[in-house]
Amino acid sequence: MNKTIAIIKGDGIGPEIVTEAMGILDAVAAKFGHTFTYVDAPMGGNAIDKFGVPLPDSSLATCRNADSVLLGAVGGPKWDNQPAANRPERGLLKLREGMGLYTNVRPAKMFSELSAACPLRADIAANGIDFIVVRELIGGVYFGEHRTEEANGEQKATDIMAYSEHEIKRVARVAFETARKRRKRVTSIDKANVLDTSRLWRKTVTEVAKDYPDVELRHMYVDNAAMQLVRDPSQFDVIVTENLFGDILSDEASQITGSIGMIPSSSMGDGTNGLYEPIHGSAPDIAGQDKANPIGTILAAAMMLRYSFDMAAEANAIERAVDKTLRSGFRCGDIMQENCQLVGCKAMGAEIRSRI
Ligand code: NAD
Repeated sequence: MNKTIAIIKGDGIGPEIVTEAMGILDAVAAKFGHTFTYVDAPMGGNAIDKFGVPLPDSSLATCRNADSVLLGAVGGPKWDNQPAANRPERGLLKLREGMGLYTNVRPAKMFSELSAACPLRADIAANGIDFIVVRELIGGVYFGEHRTEEANGEQKATDIMAYSEHEIKRVARVAFETARKRRKRVTSIDKANVLDTSRLWRKTVTEVAKDYPDVELRHMYVDNAAMQLVRDPSQFDVIVTENLFGDILSDEASQITGSIGMIPSSSMGDGTNGLYEPIHGSAPDIAGQDKANPIGTILAAAMMLRYSFDMAAEANAIERAVDKTLRSGFRCGDIMQENCQLVGCKAMGAEIRSRI
């Protein structure tokens, strides 16, 4: 197959980790007889420096026209004083909206070799952690009106949270379809005891569930969910929730698995073109030092092969190579353990590549 991949290296450690992921994709292409063509799409702080905006229209066009998009991370202290509308992260919001990416899928899976890094009690971790968070991505309070005004001699700020049925239905379907390929359990998370958007969310998800009688649905309040995730994460299979709750819970979910550097995510819309990235940021504190763990980005490339290109064998080859590399004792600094060999970003990429 011939596939065009838009590459957003971004800022900080972005270029280092994306370079390693591209090396892995090249190894897969060579082994399985595919051709991957890469097209650069500047985004983030580097794009502000060069073009004055975090996502130039030309980059958005490149991403929309590609078969898929691989992203490192954007942002850094250099751009922290940019006006809110022109911060590097704005580029990401514009990209999600411009590509119509309404669902974010984040696996929370603990690698058995890394169970010592799990911050939960050993008896809780022993039950295993393997679930997926499906988060609505282009609705809710992040995309509602934001306003700060003078009222009665003080400042008053308002953020509007809105959801329409069709926005809830389409992400609920993704969750049920995902659960069908797994353990067939969906937990829908809301705050229906307080919020109207949550009451509509709960009603709509319950309606959609009628089309999936083979999948078990339960509802949970978000405050309880935050607690259940640390009390017994093994109870979850697929979690589906709105944008703000999903942002917070998916960070909690990734933290309990051990390392932020290990986890990929995918954002999809109606087509097969998706955005694949690690869940962490640009880690300015270790940028340019060959210390970043590239595994999250490499596993994001595997997700791209599986979900956008329908290349399951190729995705499995990457995931197996990562597993074997960890089992052989190679570790980056963020996941270093006793009796293991510390390697940098480049060497970790080379070890994984050699096991494809
Ligand atoms: P961060 O995820 O960049 O870093 C948090 C900590 O984790 C740091 O100590 C960092 O060194 C470490 N870390 C992160 N990824 C790592 C990796 N692959 N290997 C080893 N260690 C790793 O979060 P932050 O410090 O809050 O944010 C830094 C910048 O990134 C900010 O400008 C923020 O806005 C941006 N950010 C971007 C994205 C994105 O592009 N999707 C997401 C989150 C934050």
